[in-house]
Amino acid sequence: MERQVTTPQVERLAELLGRSRRAVALTGAGVSVPSGIPDFRTPETGLWAKVDPMEVAHIGVFEREPERFWSYYRPRFQALGDKEPNRAHEALAELERRGLIEGVITQNVDRLHRAAGSENVIEVHGSIETSSCTACGTSFGLEEVDDLFDEGGVAICAACGDAVKPDVVLFGEMLPAAALERATELAAAADLMLCVGSSLAVHPVAGLPQLTLDGGGRLAIVTKGETPYDADAVLKLGGEVDEELGALVEALS
Ligand SMILES: [Zn+2]
Repeated sequence: MERQVTTPQVERLAELLGRSRRAVALTGAGVSVPSGIPDFRTPETGLWAKVDPMEVAHIGVFEREPERFWSYYRPRFQALGDKEPNRAHEALAELERRGLIEGVITQNVDRLHRAAGSENVIEVHGSIETSSCTACGTSFGLEEVDDLFDEGGVAICAACGDAVKPDVVLFGEMLPAAALERATELAAAADLMLCVGSSLAVHPVAGLPQLTLDGGGRLAIVTKGETPYDADAVLKLGGEVDEELGALVEALS
C-alpha cells in the first residue's frame, strides 16, 4: 500500500478510535466513488445521468413495467458487478479486524465492504449480491441473474417462471426491518460513530448519527461536502475518503 501522509486531524481520529469501546462506521456512496462508482446524487456522471433513478428504480415500475425497469437496472448490475474495493473499504475492514470498530452500516448496495473483508456489514438498502423470486423466494447470485432474462429483457425465475427482483431496496419500498433494527441498535450503543462518504441526508439512515449523539456518543465525519451533522462532530476530515482512511491506518500502525 502506498504510504499516506498523516495529519494532526488523522492522528486525532486514530486517538479517538483507540479510546472508544464501541465504535461503528456508517458509510454512503462517497466511499465507493474511488472504485469508479458515481454517487447518483452527483449530476452528469455515468449511468445515472441518463435517467432519473428515482423514477425508474422504483418498485412501481418494477411491478408494472418490468421491461423498462430492467432496461435500466440490467446494465447497472453489470457495471457494479466488476468493481473492486478501494483503500477506504480496505481500511474499514482493517479497523474491524483490529477490533477498533464493531462493524459497518452502509447505504451502498455494491457489496464492496464484504469484498474488502469486512464481516459485520449491515446493508440497510440491501445488496446486488442476490436477487429473489417474488413468488417462490428462490435466490439467485449476481452471476446467475444474467441467465434469467427472457426475450423481453425481464428476469424470470428458473424454478417457477415468476418475476425476479434484485434484493436491493427500490425507491418506494420500505427498508428491511431486520437490518434497520441492527443499525439502530449499533448506532444507539456506539460511543463513536465514524461517518464516511455520506451526506447524511437520506432518511432514515440520516437519523442514525443522532441516535449516537443522544446516547452520549461522538461523531467523526470523513466526507467531502457538508453534512447536517458537521457542527455536532468532534472531527471532520474533508479530503478524499481513500486517502484519509489510508492515512488513518498508517497512523494506527
Ligand atoms: Zn420462483
